[in-house]
Amino acid sequence: MTRTCPYCGEEIGGATPASGPDAKPDAGDFSVCLYCGGFLLFTRPDEVRILSLQEYAKLPIDIRKELREVSARVRKAQFDRMLSHAS
Ligand SMILES: [Zn+2]
Repeated sequence: MTRTCPYCGEEIGGATPASGPDAKPDAGDFSVCLYCGGFLLFTRPDEVRILSLQEYAKLPIDIRKELREVSARVRKAQFDRMLSHAS
């Protein structure tokens, strides 16, 4: 099963659904790319696409908060990696 992030092109076979690390993604589930922090929407269990801003805006506030927090963690980890390579 191969899923590729539409933002960064990385394989996201290990994508973590917002509903929990052990949950299997279903069509309509939201996720965050663990490489770039992009917001994703599962269209099938094995396919993701970019979550549009309009779709994001319609989400319940707690889900939006969770997606933002996961994305912020991914971006911070990415930034830390970049810094460690730069020094
Ligand atoms: Zn990505």
